[in-house]
Amino acid sequence: MGSNEDGKASSQHIQEKIMIVGGGIGGLACALALHRVGLKSVVLEQSDTLRATGNCITLWSNALRVLDALGIGEQFRTLYHNILEYEIFNQQGKRLAGLVLAECDGPKPHELRAVERRFLLEALAGQLPPGTIRFKSRVTSIEKSETSTGITDIHLQDGSIYNAQVVLGFDGQKSVVAEWMGLKKAELVGQVGIRGMAIFPNGHKFEDKVYYTVGKGTRSAIAAVNDTKIYWFILWNDWGEGYRSTSPEQLKAEALERSKAYQSRDIELCINNTPLEHFIKSTIRHRINTMDPTTQVVGTVTLAGDASHPTTPNMGQGGCMALEDAILLTKKLYPVLTEGPNTDSPVAESERIHLALVEFQQERHDRTYSLSVQSHKVGVVMQSAWSVICFYRDWYLIPKSLNPKYFLNHTLFDVGKLPIQLS
Ligand SMILES: Cc1cc2nc3c(=O)[nH]c(=O)nc-3n(C[C@H](O)[C@H](O)[C@H](O)COP(=O)(O)OP(=O)(O)OC[C@H]3O[C@@H](n4cnc5c(N)ncnc54)[C@H](O)[C@@H]3O)c2cc1C
Repeated sequence: MGSNEDGKASSQHIQEKIMIVGGGIGGLACALALHRVGLKSVVLEQSDTLRATGNCITLWSNALRVLDALGIGEQFRTLYHNILEYEIFNQQGKRLAGLVLAECDGPKPHELRAVERRFLLEALAGQLPPGTIRFKSRVTSIEKSETSTGITDIHLQDGSIYNAQVVLGFDGQKSVVAEWMGLKKAELVGQVGIRGMAIFPNGHKFEDKVYYTVGKGTRSAIAAVNDTKIYWFILWNDWGEGYRSTSPEQLKAEALERSKAYQSRDIELCINNTPLEHFIKSTIRHRINTMDPTTQVVGTVTLAGDASHPTTPNMGQGGCMALEDAILLTKKLYPVLTEGPNTDSPVAESERIHLALVEFQQERHDRTYSLSVQSHKVGVVMQSAWSVICFYRDWYLIPKSLNPKYFLNHTLFDVGKLPIQLS
C-alpha cells in the first residue's frame, strides 16, 4: 500500500510539485490518476490511517467508468453485486413504483453497486507508490509565498511547512482550502441520518434491488452489497448537531426507535444484524455554488470533490463526482506539467497551470451545480413532512420520476480515458 511517513513536528520546508490536501475518495483517486500518467504527487491526510467513515457508498456507472480509467474497476464488479432494480414503497409498505435499470435509456449495462468505503480507499491507495500519502498531516493554513512562480506554502499542525507548485484541495466538506479561498461553509439542510452495514453470515433474503421507502419526514433504504452484506440507512428531519458524542449503542437504539415508523420490519432486521462498529450518524450539509466557478481557483490552488461542491447524498452522486474530478483534473494538468518550461511562450508555467485549473472549474460547474440542486430537491420532496406534498409525491411524482427515459441521465457522464497509462 502506498503509505505514510510519520508527520512528527519538524518545522522544515519540504518542496513538492503537486500536493493534494485530503486523502479521501477524491484525493486518493486524483493521486492515482496523476501517477498513472507519470506525475508524482503527495497527499496530506490528517488521519493516522485511511479514513473510511460511512461503511458503504453507492457507485453508479459514471463512477465505475472512473475506476476503469484508473485500471481498478474489475475488482469492484467481482466483489459487489450490480443492483438491477429500484423499488419505492411508502411507510405502510405499499409499493409505489419500480424500475428495472436495464430498461433505462443509455449505453448498457447500467451499473449501481454498494461498495465498502474501506475497500475503495484501499484499492486506490494500494496502487500508489510508497510515501505518496503522508498520514497525521493536518493542514492548518495555506498562503501564497511567491506569486510569480505560483509557489504555495502549506502549514501543518505539527509545524512543518510544504512548498508546492500546484495545490489541489480535496479536503472534504469542512475544507481548510475552501475557507482560505473565502467560500461559504457547507450548510445544514435539516436532515440527519444513521447508516449501517448489516452482516448475514449465512446469506440474506434481499434481492439485488434498492428498497427505498419514503415517509412523512423520514425515509430509508436497503441495498444488497453482496451475498452476506446489506447497506441500509434511515433519515429524518432534524436541524440538530452534536452527533459525534453518541455511542454506537445509542446509535443502534436510536435507529431501532426510528424504524418503528415503518410498517415493514426489514429495516429493523438490518439494524439488528449490524455490528456496533458499523453504525454511523451524519448531519447532511451542502453548498449550492451560485458564484463564478473561477472563484475556486487562486493562483495554482484549486478545489475538488466535496471541498468544491458539497452535495446532499440524495442521488448518491457526491463521491461519484469526486471521482470524476480526479480524472478531469489530471487531464487538464497533464499537458501543462509535461510540456516543460516553454521559453518561447510569454506565459509562465504557473500561469499555464492557473489557466488549466480555471478551465477545469468552468467545465465542471454546470454538472456539479445542477446535480447539487437536483439532489437537494430530491431530498426535500422525498422527506417532506407536509401531508399535501407527501400525497402529491406518492400518487404522482414518484411514478413519474421513475421514468426509464430519464432516470439514469445523470449517470451517463463519461470521463473518458486518461491521456496515457504508464503504470
Ligand atoms: C450520509 C451520506 C451518504 C452518502 N452516500 C453517498 C453515495 O451513496 N454515493 C456517493 O457517490 N456519495 C455519497 N456521499 C457523498 C460522499 O461521501 C462524498 O461526496 C465523498 O466522500 C467526497 O469525497 P472527498 O474525497 O471529496 O471528501 P472526503 O471523503 O470527505 O475526504 C476528505 C479527506 O480530507 C481529509 N481532511 C480534511 N481536512 C483536512 C486537513 N485540514 N488536512 C488534511 N486532511 C484533511 C479528511 O480526513 C478526509 O480523509 C454520501 C455522503 C453522506 C454524508
